[in-house]
Amino acid sequence: MRMPLCVGNWKMFGTLAEARPLATGVRDGLRRAKDVEVVLCPPFTALAAVGEILAGSPLVLGAQNCHPEASGAHTGEIAPPMLTELGCRYVILGHSERRREMGEPDELINRKVRSALAQGLTPILCVGETAEERRQGLTFTTVEGQLRAGLAEVGAEAIAGVVLAYEPVWAIGTGANATPAQAGEVHGYLRGLLSELASKDIAGSIRILYGGSVKPENVELLAAEPEIDGSLVGGASLSAQGFVTIVKKTARAGAVRGN
Ligand code: PEP
Repeated sequence: MRMPLCVGNWKMFGTLAEARPLATGVRDGLRRAKDVEVVLCPPFTALAAVGEILAGSPLVLGAQNCHPEASGAHTGEIAPPMLTELGCRYVILGHSERRREMGEPDELINRKVRSALAQGLTPILCVGETAEERRQGLTFTTVEGQLRAGLAEVGAEAIAGVVLAYEPVWAIGTGANATPAQAGEVHGYLRGLLSELASKDIAGSIRILYGGSVKPENVELLAAEPEIDGSLVGGASLSAQGFVTIVKKTARAGAVRGN
């Protein structure tokens, strides 16, 4: 059984005045949640404050990016040890917004993945096709390329320490989510590739999240799909009540699947 995982990606939202009540609301709303893991990824500037709020709760802190090196002359960058020092356990890597806006190539994302693993962070490696790629029938080609490149030179045992997120670019922030069948098909394909890159056992243990316009209204059907192990949530994670509902529905669907 893979423990369902819900990750809130707050993106570039959240001054301290906004982040503190949001983190408190999520923490308090999930006091009794079980059978689900929850990670909050606020902006770097709010990591310390959110970490203090989550301390002593089962909720976990994550970051939205990191530099591949442990230290160095890289103005404006954040190194993995700076994140672990603040209590981060996860880091989102290869998000399509960074691939597109910052021009992050697969090779850089791979270096970040390897560095995060070496520094004790769990990478949440994002892959996903654009609308045009889907139209051209290139969905599998795209995600396979991103997965193989992202995990290049990562040993089989280390691959076990990765979380994957399938995030079709056309579904991110658009309100148009992939159907459970569309996501399930890609997740199944990714799991097959993981079997080849690591082993069948390891592939079976890796959580593959779906991301792209997950909301309280659509999460039930998505989480019921056997290949979907939870969600990476952007916009809807900025409402404590909405995100708490997403987590609770995910936990319920996971419990039903486990029975
Ligand atoms: C994301 O940022 O990873 C994401 C999936 O965003 P949204 O939920 O807003 O589509």
